[in-house]
Amino acid sequence: MLALYGVATIARGFQPQEPRLVLRLRSPTSRPEHAADVALARNAHEIDIAVSSGFTGAFVVRSEMHEPSRGNELPRMIQVPEKFDYLSDGDVLGFHSASRRFRTLYRRSSAHNSFLVTERCNHYCLMCSQPPRDVDDSWILREIREALPLVDKQTRYLGFTGGEPLLDWQELTAALRDCRDLLPQTAIHVLSNGRAFASTEIAAAWADVKHPALSVGIPIYSAVDTVHDYVVQAKGAFDETVLGILKLKDKGQRVEIRVVLHAVTAPRIAATCRWLARNLPFVDHVALMGLENTGFAIANDDLLWIDPMDYREQLAEAVDVLAAGKVPVSVYNLPLCVLDRSVWSFAQQSISDWKNDFVPECERCDEKKRCSGFFTTGRPRYSRGIQAIIN
Ligand code: SF4
Repeated sequence: MLALYGVATIARGFQPQEPRLVLRLRSPTSRPEHAADVALARNAHEIDIAVSSGFTGAFVVRSEMHEPSRGNELPRMIQVPEKFDYLSDGDVLGFHSASRRFRTLYRRSSAHNSFLVTERCNHYCLMCSQPPRDVDDSWILREIREALPLVDKQTRYLGFTGGEPLLDWQELTAALRDCRDLLPQTAIHVLSNGRAFASTEIAAAWADVKHPALSVGIPIYSAVDTVHDYVVQAKGAFDETVLGILKLKDKGQRVEIRVVLHAVTAPRIAATCRWLARNLPFVDHVALMGLENTGFAIANDDLLWIDPMDYREQLAEAVDVLAAGKVPVSVYNLPLCVLDRSVWSFAQQSISDWKNDFVPECERCDEKKRCSGFFTTGRPRYSRGIQAIIN
C-alpha cells in the first residue's frame, strides 16, 4: 500500500505566516511555472539542475537524514523518506510547515485521485471507512481549491469524498465551479449521502454549477426505510435521501446509487434492486459494492461480515433485475472467482491503485488481469471461494 502522508525529515525556509502550503512537484529539468512549484530531486546532482532551472525550492526524496551538500543553494527545502519515492512530476501535496506533515493530494499518474473534503458527517454508518470526526476542517476545502489549478488538465477523473461533502455546500459548489472552469475535460464524481439535496436551494445550486461531467454517488442500502436508517444510524435519512435523488433528477443531474454489500444489506440485495428498478429506473448507474473492511467495519465485524459466496445468487439476481430494467449496473470491489459468471461482465476493477493487491492464489489465475483483487486497507477478510480460474 502506498504511504499517502508522512512527516518530512527536514523542512527549512518556510515562514510561520504560511503554515499550510500546497506544492506541486516538478522535474528539476523543467522550469517553475507557478509559485507552488518545487523541484522533485533525489540527489545533489538533481539539486544542481533544479538551481540552474530557476527553482527556489526542492522536495528531496532520499534515505539519508542529513541535507544533501548542494541543498543550501535553495532557499526552501523539504526532505522526505525513501518510501515516498513513488512521487513524480506533476504530483500535488499539502504541506504543514510547523509540524512538517504532508499529504499527497493528487498523483498525476493515478486514475483514482480523490479529495477528502471533510471528516464531518451527519451519518454514522455501521461500515464507515472514514469514521466521522466533529472537527473544524473547513481549511481542507480551501486547500483543495488551491490545489485544483495545479492539477494536470489531461486528468480524466477526480473524486470528492468525505465525511459528507455537502455539509459545506456553498464552498463545495464553488470548488465544483473551479473544476468546471479549470479542468473542463475532467469527469467529477462526488460521494454524498444525498440528504442535502432534499433542500431545493442546494439541489438548485448543484445544478447551477452546470458542469458537463459531474455526477454524485448516493447510497441507498435497502428499499425498507428502517433498514437504510439503521445502516446509516440516522432516523429519517431514507426519506430525505430519496427526496434528494428525485430533486436532482428533476433538474437533469447525473446520479449514481451505491449499495455496500454486507450482512445487513447483501441478503436482501435482490429485493433492493427490484425496488430501485421500479421506483428509480431513471438513475444513471447503480454500483453494488463489496465491503472495504476498515474503519467501523472492523469494529462491527460480527454484525457485517458475510462471505460473498453466501450472497452470490442474490447478487446475480440483483444484477439481472437491473440489467433487464435497462438500469446501468456495475459490481465493484469483488473478485471474479466469488461472482456468478453471469455477473462477470458487470464487474469493475474498482479498487484504487494505492490500496489494491492480490493473494498468492491469484498468481496462477487466468483472469487476474480483469479481476478487482482486494483492498489492502484495514483488516482484509477473504472469501472461502477464492480460487484461481483456469480457462
Ligand atoms: S483467484 Fe485471484 S485473480 Fe483470480 S479471480 Fe480470484 S481473486 Fe481474482
